[in-house]
Amino acid sequence: MSLVFKKPKKTCNDRNCPFHGDLPVRGRVFEGVVASAKMDKTVIVKRDYLHYVPKFKRYERRRSRIPAHNPPCINAKEGDTVRIAECRPISKTVSFVVVEKLEEA
Ligand SMILES: [Zn+2]
Repeated sequence: MSLVFKKPKKTCNDRNCPFHGDLPVRGRVFEGVVASAKMDKTVIVKRDYLHYVPKFKRYERRRSRIPAHNPPCINAKEGDTVRIAECRPISKTVSFVVVEKLEEA
């Protein structure tokens, strides 16, 4: 793994786990809040950010929802603040993985 994250305390046998399986992570890293954890081992991470509009010299608020793989050793729940990292596409929509739980709901 080229990026260094804090290792989770628990272990798991998920193939798509960056710590206990063989899923390489590279690319972008985001922080966000879990908006939905209803799927099996997948969460939706909500991210609020500011986008600069030069014409008005002001920022506009934008938000995005990123589907991310949620390995069992991290097991993020709805409302948790998490760090996600880009990885290879795991499914049609998932190409991020939860690498750290920053704050519990
Ligand atoms: Zn794991």
